[in-house]
Amino acid sequence: MIWSLLKVFIFIALIAALAYGAGLLLDTGGGIQITVAGWELTLGPLQAVILALLLVVILWLILKAVGLVVAVLRFLNGDETAISRYFDRNRERKGYQALSEGLMALASGEGRVAMSRAQKAERYLAKPELTTLLLAQAAEATGDTKRATEAYKRLLGDDKTRFVGVRGLLKQKLADGDTETALKLAEKAFAMKPKHAETQDILLKLQADKSDWKGARATLGAKLKAGELPRDVYRRRDAVLALQEAKIVFDESASIEAREAAIEANRLSPDLIPAACMAARGLVQKGDKKGASRVLKKAWQAKPHPDLAAAFAEIEPDETPSARIKRFKLLTAIQPDNEQTRLLLAELHVAAEDFPTARRSLGDIVTTHPTQRSLAIMAAIERGEGAEDSVVRAWLTRALSAPRGPQWCCDKCQAIHAQWHPICDNCGGFDTLSWRDVAEFGGASATGTELLPLIVGQKPAPAATPEIEILDAEPADKTSS
Ligand SMILES: [Zn+2]
Repeated sequence: MIWSLLKVFIFIALIAALAYGAGLLLDTGGGIQITVAGWELTLGPLQAVILALLLVVILWLILKAVGLVVAVLRFLNGDETAISRYFDRNRERKGYQALSEGLMALASGEGRVAMSRAQKAERYLAKPELTTLLLAQAAEATGDTKRATEAYKRLLGDDKTRFVGVRGLLKQKLADGDTETALKLAEKAFAMKPKHAETQDILLKLQADKSDWKGARATLGAKLKAGELPRDVYRRRDAVLALQEAKIVFDESASIEAREAAIEANRLSPDLIPAACMAARGLVQKGDKKGASRVLKKAWQAKPHPDLAAAFAEIEPDETPSARIKRFKLLTAIQPDNEQTRLLLAELHVAAEDFPTARRSLGDIVTTHPTQRSLAIMAAIERGEGAEDSVVRAWLTRALSAPRGPQWCCDKCQAIHAQWHPICDNCGGFDTLSWRDVAEFGGASATGTELLPLIVGQKPAPAATPEIEILDAEPADKTSS
């Protein structure tokens, strides 16, 4: 502080001296006379100016020398780094200048310039956490992944910069498509900063891709704790993950654990249709048919869906069609005017060969909202009532070109999925599939279960034979038309 003040004073004194000197020069008519210890010098104007400049340079050198002497004195007093600090001050200044230029270059997209500035800054500054990061970013901007990787690996060495290093490497691995290593890095980053939102999202996605549902649920829990997720969204997503967890165990062996997981998923989000279906199946295996009915009823209340009806049918696979109609009242009484309920009723009556009631249940759906499913049911009704082959064929032909009706459709990329899945096969979105109408036209699925889930999707049972006949006629009609 005092030193800088002194500098200012010296500077002012110098200016004053120069002004005085210039005044003298003008007074003496362009000349200056100096008498020093008996010597007498007479200078012309130019020589006077040169002398003044020389004095300035000498003064600057003296100041530098004083600084050095001070540093040496300090060194002698026991301050070991005083001398190196004196010389480093210059380097530091240059280093920071290179660093700031590098940052500017990086921000303006000049990767190559940023790279050379980063290397310069690295030479001058002893701050690897700054220069290595700039180096890594510059290397990435120029597409030099190898150098970037090296830089990120160097950042791993220091506690302060480890997270940045891991994150950089993680991004690289993701870009390379090396999900195996990316998952490990994401886990490491998550352990370091569990509240880092971006890391949470990446980890969750990777875990879901690798079907590590347990891990994904833990990550989702961390997201909730960090306040990144509203509680209802968390509930639903956790149910989705719990369901997947259950599905995997189901595939291996229908253990109690899996049943519990499915039931838990259903409890977390009762309107999640796949969870309700799986929970109901789990309860049936356990012998709790009442519980299964209750679960499906609750889900039907939230949203009538053919999958729920199919699961409800599985509760009593061997009942007669009339007994089935009676039992299904539990569902059909809930939302009697819903289109799904009416289609379900029509199907049930077709199965019971009560075609007039089936027609009544269907009502005007074939004109107000014609879909493949409603038109196929209509064809079955016509056939059952003994209509001409040409009439049946006409309905089936219409069914072929009709909209498919509601489907599991991705909200993000609009891809249609035959079955519900937590992750979109097309865009990889998590929990993006919803059951809704799609404008697209297309052919029936391989099994035809979405047209007549109760009839086609049913396991061969004595009661179901006549309906299978009806559908057996369908492909023949399709080929002949
Ligand atoms: Zn998608």
